Amino acid sequence: MSDASSLVRPIIRKLHGYVPGEQPKIPGLIKLNTNENPYPPSPKVLKAVKAAVDGRFRLYPNPSADRLRAKLAVYHHCKPENIIVGNGSDELLALATRVFVEPNAVIQYFTPSYSLYPVLADIHGATRNPVPLNPDFTIPTADDLRRDGKWNFDAPLTFVTTPNAPSGRAYATADLERLSNAHKGTMILDEAYANFAKEDALNLALQFPHVIVARTFSKGYSLCFLRVGYFVGHAELIAALHKARDSYNVNGLGQIAAEAALEDLPYYRKNFRRILGTRARVIAELAELGFETMPSQTNFILTHPPAFPAAEWLEKLRGEKILVRWWSYPEVRDYLRITIGTDREMDTFLKVARRLLKPSAQNTKRLRRK
Ligand code: PMP
Repeated sequence: MSDASSLVRPIIRKLHGYVPGEQPKIPGLIKLNTNENPYPPSPKVLKAVKAAVDGRFRLYPNPSADRLRAKLAVYHHCKPENIIVGNGSDELLALATRVFVEPNAVIQYFTPSYSLYPVLADIHGATRNPVPLNPDFTIPTADDLRRDGKWNFDAPLTFVTTPNAPSGRAYATADLERLSNAHKGTMILDEAYANFAKEDALNLALQFPHVIVARTFSKGYSLCFLRVGYFVGHAELIAALHKARDSYNVNGLGQIAAEAALEDLPYYRKNFRRILGTRARVIAELAELGFETMPSQTNFILTHPPAFPAAEWLEKLRGEKILVRWWSYPEVRDYLRITIGTDREMDTFLKVARRLLKPSAQNTKRLRRK
């Protein structure tokens, strides 16, 4: 060990950090790997951000995003005291580990789900408790979890990705309510993809003192670049989070952009509908090619490809300048996760998939003839 590395806490030295999806800058690349929205932010958002590019950069932004919280409170029928805004929802998920979990205590989540959670547990020195979803990625009932014995109903912090990533499956609010009822520790319902789902569980955050809903402007509102996410929850939990956050955690342009987004909801609702339409068409056309796709309520799909292994599809598609996501861990290594792009991007993807399948179809025929 070098002298310098001995200065780093052992827990961080052995940490496997979160691996974000690649962000290559290749001209003409069709980027379907990180669930970004294929449509730009509303023109009103861009105008508001441009109008704020001036001498005020000298000043600190509002420390608690007060105007944005007031707007979010109206939008969600709650009080600003029920809301904390973060530098993306990722920042708030990390903050929650510091605020709710004693070192060595348990951080719990389903697998597969958002692969940041185990990393947050490791950084904090907490004990991970990954509990498998059902084999078809549906959520086990509270009774099943009790019978199975692995779920810790007292865990100080539990993350539930709903709709789930990477499966795309949604969980019924009634099921989440039953789980919340049975559960004692803080439960964060990570609704990063709620804008693309039929229902959401926001009311549970206002109903149960121990339930927090996490949302983001990244996906639905096309604002990944500006990093704005938020929690909705009981005022006392939210106050505790405010106490522990950085003083100026949300940049000024991000606050302005998110406020303007809430002023132009019809623009975004149109985008949600467009993405849902494209999603349905892509799933149907992929089915004709032999892809088996999970039901999706997100802006991405998890699909089991035909003919060659998923890892090979990843490389073949990359060779055609189409980037999708693949993981090597056992529950999902037979699948590709594909973000829903524009209709044109998805047409190109489907055309390439058809072409890639042709030679292998011919090979199969040849084999059959022999
Ligand atoms: N939750 C889930 C399930 C996600 O997939 C993501 C995006 N990777 C996030 C939270 C974080 O989103 P952001 O930090 O951009 O708000």
